[in-house]
Amino acid sequence: MISYDLVQPWPEGFVVVGDAASAFNPVYGHGMSVAARNALSVRNGLRRHGDAAGVARIIQASVTAGGLDAWQLAVGQDLRSQQRLEGRTPDLKSRLLYAYGDRMARVARGRQDLFALQLDVYTLSSPTSRVFSPRAVLATLLGPVDPPLAEPPFTAAEQSVLAY
Ligand SMILES: Cc1cc2nc3c(=O)[nH]c(=O)nc-3n(C[C@H](O)[C@H](O)[C@H](O)COP(=O)(O)OP(=O)(O)OC[C@H]3O[C@@H](n4cnc5c(N)ncnc54)[C@H](O)[C@@H]3O)c2cc1C
Repeated sequence: MISYDLVQPWPEGFVVVGDAASAFNPVYGHGMSVAARNALSVRNGLRRHGDAAGVARIIQASVTAGGLDAWQLAVGQDLRSQQRLEGRTPDLKSRLLYAYGDRMARVARGRQDLFALQLDVYTLSSPTSRVFSPRAVLATLLGPVDPPLAEPPFTAAEQSVLAY
């Protein structure tokens, strides 16, 4: 992710959007949502400021802000994968965050309210800070934590489709 709005000087009438401003690992499925937010930044910026001097930088700052949550989510996961691949031990803060995220994912399997909250955050429908809301922290800590699945949770009918 490049914070183009920090570049000095910034040309008038020029805004960088979409993957050119922030390209994400496709596994997270966030690129098009962020690109759509970028389009809204352009529309809203032009509506509010018209062609006033400096409007491109204002819009560019809004574009940067629109990708921060997706960036935060992606960087956390990508960093973890890289640390695993390289056999590096994460620092204490990262270990705590990973443990919290893992536990939340396991509890969410059996708690619809926590699952909905997690899904909202992962689909960028809610701010990432919601995973640390008192409700989410309590649910994550209190559980219950379902045991890991021993086999795929499919019905016989679903299994037959898969076999086909
Ligand atoms: C394999 C893969 C899977 C993905 N899956 C998802 C997903 O499930 N969900 C999701 O939200 N996002 C996904 N993404 C990300 C998403 O595709 C991008 O974030 C999104 O397409 C970015 O839009 P864009 O307009 O910035 O760039 P693009 O869609 O890449 O559009 C850029 C366009 O500019 C054209 N172009 C390039 N150079 C020039 C030139 N010199 N002159 C003229 N035209 C030019 C290109 O041909 C292209 O048509 C995925 C990406 C990949 C690679």
